Amino acid sequence: MIPVKGYKGQKVAVLGLGRSGLATAAALRAGGAEPLLWDDSPEARAKAAEAGHVLTDLTRAAALDGVACLVTSPGIPHLFPAPHPVIARALDQGIPVDNDIGLFFQSAAGPEWDEMETPPKVVAVTGSNGKSTTTALIHHILAEAGRPTQMAGNIGKGVLSIDPPQDGEVIVLELSSYQTELARALTPDVAVFTNLSPDHLDRHGGTGGYFAAKARLFALGGPDRAVIGVDEIEGRFLAGQLGQGPQDDRVIRVSSGSKLEGFGWSVFARKGFLAEWRKGRQVASIDLRAVKGLSGAHNHQNACAAYAACRSLGLAPKLIEGALHSFAGLPHRSQLVGERDGVRFINDSKATNVDSAAKALQAF
Ligand code: ADP
Repeated sequence: MIPVKGYKGQKVAVLGLGRSGLATAAALRAGGAEPLLWDDSPEARAKAAEAGHVLTDLTRAAALDGVACLVTSPGIPHLFPAPHPVIARALDQGIPVDNDIGLFFQSAAGPEWDEMETPPKVVAVTGSNGKSTTTALIHHILAEAGRPTQMAGNIGKGVLSIDPPQDGEVIVLELSSYQTELARALTPDVAVFTNLSPDHLDRHGGTGGYFAAKARLFALGGPDRAVIGVDEIEGRFLAGQLGQGPQDDRVIRVSSGSKLEGFGWSVFARKGFLAEWRKGRQVASIDLRAVKGLSGAHNHQNACAAYAACRSLGLAPKLIEGALHSFAGLPHRSQLVGERDGVRFINDSKATNVDSAAKALQAF
């Protein structure tokens, strides 16, 4: 667990008692804060009470008096289509609203990190599609490379439930737009943007709000290295904004389909081959056609993004190539579940928007 810093002796309201809400409550308590817990669902409240948590009705008029911060769960709207009444009241009273991701970035690093030979690093992955695959792949490559690593966020554990990072460790986080929109601190060392296509527009007030929510991951403090998928105009815009020009290698441009040879640093897949280019010359090439767990152009995009993130952490191309081959893929994502009479059956139930379903169909 990562004890939450900055709220010792203070009341912090927690709205939403799912997995991340309960983990947040425990992490707040470990940091010396007094969490006030609530959920609109009687079932969730009963579960929290069963686990020994004390509940406070945050919907009562004076419930937020004296509260230092309101921490909410990703499923609860704070702006669109309409703010949850408890969040609206916090905003009326000028109380900061945060989430577990913001608390994580505020709390993870400590003076003990300075004593380490290689202080821990955080890689954060966002985008419309391919987040889980890219996150799991980065985690897999790091593990194969023998680096201590934990995976958390939208995939795996809640961010505050991870073990305190050790020397040389890399924490790999998958972050949704709901999470990046609200977090008050977002300071990954490496940030990855896979791609953008319309999704969750009701929650973000349209495409502009959706893109702005994701772009926050790159704006607040700025990661040391940004891996940006540039197959859509939004990615090209973001890459242009973050770099001091096309040769700035703090931005690694990624594409599935486009040749990106003229940039400071780029990784792209064409005709089944991944190519890495740096300062006008090709550094590496990998045949992705032989990589069983990552078939289709969409997965080649994920492979390029994960490769770029791992290169920015100093891993060698050959090592990454080996690890790509041992990646089994994730269940429910373009997953071969059986074969009968020459017909292959694919489970792609995680394709929950038009673009992801279309990309997966194209791949077959
Ligand atoms: P996310 O975590 O962003 O939802 P996943 O890695 O879980 O993404 O993949 C979900 C589905 O999206 C997959 O089943 C596949 O159909 C599709 N998909 C995966 N990667 C991409 C990509 N890079 N571009 C478009 N669609 C993708």
